[in-house]
Amino acid sequence: MEAPLGQKQRPHEFPSITLSHLSSPAPSSASASASFAVDNSGCPRLRIHQLSSPDPVFDLDLQNIQIYKLGPLDLLCASEETGGDDCEEKLFSRAFKVGFGTKDECKAFYSACEQWKLGVVGARTGEPLANGSLTVPKSKFDNKIDTTSAKMYFHYYGQLLHQQNMLQDYVRTGTYYAAVIENRVDFHGRVVVDVGAGSGILSLFAAQAGAKHVYAVEASEMAEYARRLVAGNPSLGQRITVIKGKIEEVELPEKADILISEPMGTLLVNERMLETYVIARDRFLIPDGKMFPSLGRIHMAPFSDEYLFVEIANKALFWQQHNYYGVDLTPLYGSAFQGYFSQPVVDAFDPRLLVSPPIIHTLDFTSIKEEDLYEIDIPLNFVSSVGTRVHGLACWFDVLFNGSSVQRWLTTAPGAPTTHWYQLRCVLAQPIYVMAGQEITGRFHLVSHSAQSYTIYLTMSAKMWGAGADQGGILQTSSCKLDLKEPYYRLSQPQPYVLQQDQQSNQQLMQSQEISPSIQDGSDPSIAVIPSQIAESLNQ
Ligand code: SAH
Repeated sequence: MEAPLGQKQRPHEFPSITLSHLSSPAPSSASASASFAVDNSGCPRLRIHQLSSPDPVFDLDLQNIQIYKLGPLDLLCASEETGGDDCEEKLFSRAFKVGFGTKDECKAFYSACEQWKLGVVGARTGEPLANGSLTVPKSKFDNKIDTTSAKMYFHYYGQLLHQQNMLQDYVRTGTYYAAVIENRVDFHGRVVVDVGAGSGILSLFAAQAGAKHVYAVEASEMAEYARRLVAGNPSLGQRITVIKGKIEEVELPEKADILISEPMGTLLVNERMLETYVIARDRFLIPDGKMFPSLGRIHMAPFSDEYLFVEIANKALFWQQHNYYGVDLTPLYGSAFQGYFSQPVVDAFDPRLLVSPPIIHTLDFTSIKEEDLYEIDIPLNFVSSVGTRVHGLACWFDVLFNGSSVQRWLTTAPGAPTTHWYQLRCVLAQPIYVMAGQEITGRFHLVSHSAQSYTIYLTMSAKMWGAGADQGGILQTSSCKLDLKEPYYRLSQPQPYVLQQDQQSNQQLMQSQEISPSIQDGSDPSIAVIPSQIAESLNQ
């Protein structure tokens, strides 16, 4: 591992301090010494020794410490680090007071803390107040994201099992690996920032491709594991610095020639991490620097899937019971029905369910503004290839690694090898009827919310047809509102290729009127019942 940045110029020994324990049952003062150091995994630590003992009384991760000025000669250190063998103690923060002989010593210690944090780990951009605590201006992230959502989000990514899930998506990780290794020329001798490094895997790939230095920025507790992984691969790790913190808040010692990141969520934009990627570009990338990936595309097409529609409608049937242990459940039926149709469906489907070629909405990560991602409004216009009932809009995405040697796409399209993103479908509570060659119009409107996701407003329309339709072109319009944060993971259902013949029989069934009339006229999907032939094929 390289010497931490500028470490040599920094004061790191304070041989004569007074230590007062505040959180122990019996407060006491003792002579002590303090030192700053970096541990094997590159993490800066504050160690405090009592003069009577060789072992440190405190050995703390500097990132978890807040320092407050109590007076000209005293500082208060509060540590969030868990510690002590006593289980109870682990529940509380630890605090101790450090006293100094002179004002200068006190100031030097205070600024040493700041420098060690900044120089080695990159810290929040807070300015110390003359007398008091650090003021930490709210970052762009904190301003727009709900604290509870962020806490749960980073807790999730702090767990190895979830990182493993992504690492075991070989389509995903293998495409990143190929894109990096085939484009060594973009990494060799370059400074790289890994935006949301997770386990650090992409940083290690970048180092394999010859990066001069990689800054792996990760906000969750996964940063500690990334440090260990990096330390355990020393030939690569010596060119990687793991920085624990949010992209929106950390400081880096130099600009990057290239950013690498995997910021994609369901429907590309879920988790709102693309905004973080764009902020990283604006904060850390040199002008005309490269981004891996450099653009993303959302693909959308109408689909017809009678089974899916009936399955969702039937979920709400529970609330049709008039006598559930003597209770009439029907007052809640309408809300339950709405609730099920407000969940976008995540699964892998057969591309033959699509009724027209997809349209594409492109997001260029190299030029898009962060604010442009707050609201995404996409006009829809399709021409149906078949006569069928359209049950909603199917979506997937791809991203491009625009390497200097090789261009590579990572795709999540239906029919392509399945990824952990699968595909996403927004199902209309009221399907619409189309003829072959008929135009389907509408709007797909995504509005971001503070829980790191989007509300989806979908409207789809087609002209009336068939008996009773006016010549003048009255529209059948169907709208729905969905929350991208609450998808229905439909993965225990039969896999898409099991349904291969069903799409055909679906069409045949509809033509031969064998589908329940209540489904076909679409008047009351609540009483839809799965036709026996369809139910049988689902059970196979
Ligand atoms: N790059 C890794 C992990 C991708 S998952 C890989 O490809 O396997 C996205 C990671 O970004 C998560 O670990 C998450 O904690 C992190 N992340 C999300 N938003 C972040 C932010 N604002 N600042 C720093 N890290 C962030």
